[in-house]
Amino acid sequence: MADSPKKTPDELLEELGIKEPSQLKIEAIAFHCQAIILYEPLTGCEANIVGKGDRAIITVNSNAIPTRQRFSAGHELGHWMKDRGQSAFGCTDRQIESEWTANNPETRANQFASDLLLPPKLFVPLAKGRPITVETVRDLGQAFQMSLTATGIKLVAAEDFDLLLVDVFMPGMDGLETIKQVHRHKPGLPIIVMSGLSFSSGGAQPPDFLAMACKLGAVGDLKKPFRPRELLAVIAEGLETSAGGRRAAAG
Ligand SMILES: [Zn+2]
Repeated sequence: MADSPKKTPDELLEELGIKEPSQLKIEAIAFHCQAIILYEPLTGCEANIVGKGDRAIITVNSNAIPTRQRFSAGHELGHWMKDRGQSAFGCTDRQIESEWTANNPETRANQFASDLLLPPKLFVPLAKGRPITVETVRDLGQAFQMSLTATGIKLVAAEDFDLLLVDVFMPGMDGLETIKQVHRHKPGLPIIVMSGLSFSSGGAQPPDFLAMACKLGAVGDLKKPFRPRELLAVIAEGLETSAGGRRAAAG
């Protein structure tokens, strides 16, 4: 192949003249990269890739929900564009969702998928000036055919705000993972974590998720149910902590 096989998502969008979300057709983009995407029921992994020479076949689990299939396809294409030449990858749900923090092939593949399917160049202009609400995330998620979680993280990265409240247990991605990802984009953002799980109920002691969240960088925690004044107190404290941190960093 004449030109370099390792291209960034930005370079690919440029080459293909992609200017709006509806043009982000993952099969066409993969084809441009000499990779073909097949959809078949898979067990034990969400997607895999087999490459030989300059061609590859990506197989995506057809039983997964459409947004997951799309992200998995982008993830495998990331392996193809970033880690080509290494042995074949078979990527489990766990790898695709959880291994974001370390600098490993899974992280690079996730980053590639996110930059390709929610490219800042297209995402930021559409997100700009819109309130950070579930409705905004849903609208943008629909436009880009991406999950609420992936879209929400991107919105957090694109917009400015003072504080984030996050639940420990959420569908798609748990609060601990969300904290790690949000802090990758906004390291100084105060995050308050809340959970409704009863930690003192009998039987085996469940892990203390709120304590784990604080270790990951949450500045405050709340056990549900809580009263408005408790919420306001934790928020005030969180804002104060982060302002203190910024003052210390500046001084
Ligand atoms: Zn992978």
